[in-house]
Amino acid sequence: SPLLTTTLPRRRESSARSYPQRLPITLAWGRGAVVGDTRGGEYIDCLAGAGALALGHHHPAVDDAIRATLDSGAPLSTLDLSTPVRDQFVEQLFSILPSSLSSGRILFCGPSGADAVEASIKLARTCTGRTGVIAFGGGYHGMTQGTLALTGRRSAKEPLGALLPEVHHLPFPTEYRSPFGPSANADIAGRLVTWALTDDHSGIAAPAAVIAEPVQGEGGVYPMPAPFAATLRASTRSAGAVLVADEVQTGLGRTGSLWASDPIGLDPDVLVLSKAIGGGLPLAVIVHRGELDAWQPGAHAGTFRGSALSMAAGAATIREVVRGGLADRARELGQRLSDGLRAVAGDDARAGDIRGPGLMVGVELVDPAAADADGVPAPDGRLAQAVQRAMMNRGVIVEVGGTDDAVVRFLPPLIIDEEQIDQVVDAFGAALRAVPA
Ligand code: PMP
Repeated sequence: SPLLTTTLPRRRESSARSYPQRLPITLAWGRGAVVGDTRGGEYIDCLAGAGALALGHHHPAVDDAIRATLDSGAPLSTLDLSTPVRDQFVEQLFSILPSSLSSGRILFCGPSGADAVEASIKLARTCTGRTGVIAFGGGYHGMTQGTLALTGRRSAKEPLGALLPEVHHLPFPTEYRSPFGPSANADIAGRLVTWALTDDHSGIAAPAAVIAEPVQGEGGVYPMPAPFAATLRASTRSAGAVLVADEVQTGLGRTGSLWASDPIGLDPDVLVLSKAIGGGLPLAVIVHRGELDAWQPGAHAGTFRGSALSMAAGAATIREVVRGGLADRARELGQRLSDGLRAVAGDDARAGDIRGPGLMVGVELVDPAAADADGVPAPDGRLAQAVQRAMMNRGVIVEVGGTDDAVVRFLPPLIIDEEQIDQVVDAFGAALRAVPA
């Protein structure tokens, strides 16, 4: 039976596979916000392709668009040659971009978010003639050598030695576990950015780019405060550095607005997009202000920049997100999720912090017995992973991330319904109670 998997193919796979080590299931089908395994188990999928499946599994609009493209005889792979499918995708995307980028340019970068992040830095270097980049602690931008250099997680890169040169990490203004103590954070973090970018005595060479996520995802779900976004915008402008917003995970409605940069006024020069914009198929682009169009023909290339199936799935997804008002829906459902998680966590001190906008929510699990100098309890990755496993046993798949992987992350498809949200909440409450303190 195709549903039976032997252990032999599994043993042939790399030890780098981390999900199956924690979630030992074999998924056989997916529909909407639910996936099923080969043994008859069903799960609400709050991983959703790491946020790529905005419309969930096998949304009819996406399936129809893929089928129609196949049936039409359109070429499926055309590098950057024009096709009607591509033109339609570009038109759809530009119809919803922030106004400051609506007369910008798009570059298809390849299948993965990391491809687009790489392109954004290369473009900034081309435009400015500078090499340095400022990124943020806890930021995540990918796993290629360049994007890993930008990623603010020391343990992920220490074994590798020199990566992209001249990357400086500054503190991200997290509210919980702030590097500046429990009170002032956005203000001090903003001052540090201004200092690094504009003060001769910072010793940091004027950078080509500053790259940031409007909500840090893998880093543990930390939203960027609006005053910090304003400082980033102003200081990059005065320092002549390109401001890159990595919206690979936040883009297309997840955080309760189409773009997470918008409500905080980040107003980036370059928007990096992937995941949801491909409708669950591989696609990554950058959109940048017109005046940054410094490429020479052929200056940036890559074979898989022209997947018609990804573009068709992406265009259908954008249409559905807009038609269904799914960004607003993500805001409402996210509130229900956050409120519900707070309610079931009750006064259990192990749920240290519950945060995140829209359907990008994290619960940081902590060891209340081990506090730092500010009295903030230590992250407890062991507990988070036990809760993850216990939630799986109760029919919900979640991700973990953040410091020590102690943040249980909820990234369900935007089409999840109220009843499913309540099931997710109940499963979290039951899982937390089931794991001994
Ligand atoms: N940037 C952000 C903000 C991401 O969340 C991710 C993926 N989690 C990436 C970049 C890298 O994307 P990919 O895994 O497709 O290379």
